[in-house]
Amino acid sequence: MAIRDVLRAVEDRRDDLAALTADLVRIPTVNPPGENYRDCAEFLGNRLRRRGFDVVYVRAEGSPGDSDRYPRWNVVARKEGSRPGPCVHFNSHIDVVEPGAGWTRNPFGGEMEDGRVYGRGACDMKGGLAASVVAVEAFIDLMPDFPGAIEISGTADEESGGYGGVAYLAGKGFFSKPRVDHVIIPEPLNKDCICLGHRGVWWAKIETKGRIAHGSMPFLGDCAVRHMGALLHAFECELIPVLAARRTEMPVIPPGARSSTLNINSIHGGQREDYEGLPSPCVPDSARLVIDRRFLMEERIEDVKAEVIGILDRLAEERTDFSYAIEDLFEVLPTMTDRDAPVVRAVATGIREVMGREPNYVVSPGTYDQKHVDRIGRLKDCIAYGPGILDLAHQPDEYVGVDDMVDSAKVMARALHELLTGGSRA
Ligand SMILES: [Zn+2]
Repeated sequence: MAIRDVLRAVEDRRDDLAALTADLVRIPTVNPPGENYRDCAEFLGNRLRRRGFDVVYVRAEGSPGDSDRYPRWNVVARKEGSRPGPCVHFNSHIDVVEPGAGWTRNPFGGEMEDGRVYGRGACDMKGGLAASVVAVEAFIDLMPDFPGAIEISGTADEESGGYGGVAYLAGKGFFSKPRVDHVIIPEPLNKDCICLGHRGVWWAKIETKGRIAHGSMPFLGDCAVRHMGALLHAFECELIPVLAARRTEMPVIPPGARSSTLNINSIHGGQREDYEGLPSPCVPDSARLVIDRRFLMEERIEDVKAEVIGILDRLAEERTDFSYAIEDLFEVLPTMTDRDAPVVRAVATGIREVMGREPNYVVSPGTYDQKHVDRIGRLKDCIAYGPGILDLAHQPDEYVGVDDMVDSAKVMARALHELLTGGSRA
């Protein structure tokens, strides 16, 4: 049996692929709060168990959001080959964001029309999950004698950071050698793109401090909001232009994200706004800001932090009574899998053969579950590759094209074949 026959088998399963996607869309796994994870995990697990996979369900007990009402269930299915070899793992998140307004279709109807499957999560990323399932099933049906092992997981909470999903499983060894060698995450990044990784993230909370006084005599107090204004001014005039000029060699898409960026996530100072009637006249003694700093492979996180702390320390010298506190909230280092890595080469071969063109190598502006595979699992041979148009994710009338799913399922089957049998480094 040749890989050609496997690709033809994928093509023949086009209706099954569309139907599987629609069935997955009809299970509304909305996160937050994290609904119906168990139903979706079992739906997937039951299908794969019938194909001879060993299936385990793992609840991420104690992870953020996990409760008896909204348990964080994950499913991991594994099929051993006929002899030792590497393990290829396809990981998809099963959660979707809320539908939001503006739909002209039932977001959980799994409607099919004109070669598309519509619904929340069709694109991000139940279409990718279905493509990986059909690719793997076709492969094992036609090449039952394969070496190594194949795994498929459906995991929770990617949309809220992945702590009840891939991070939890990675902490239990599910995404590390020797169990797993290569990971493909079928996120919707277009069927001819290989996503090598993502930029880094640093979130921090900064507080400027003041002294309360009567608002009619502000000179008797010290206004924390004016101190925060000075910080924002320094960000605006000094830091943001410098970051915008700092360009990366990482092929980030869209190209606007090929610089370092700073977002002011939120700002609060003085009294709360939800009082009845009028506020009382007070000089604010505290102002708080959350920054979302995205950084590049070319930057070190220590420098990223020192740049902001340097501005704060300078303001403390320049401004009377300026004092501040800074707290790290979250950080992820940038990651970018090498273009020569086995999983990248295998998927690139698939794209060339199935679509007759060179792959686009891209990097995501934001992070996704690859961060946990990299940081907790310490596994470098990981990429995102899957069908669907990223711009449609989280939008009303989200859909995935059936042709795109078939093409990317063929690429996945081709890559699987090369990784398991093609003499790639294991
Ligand atoms: Zn996604």
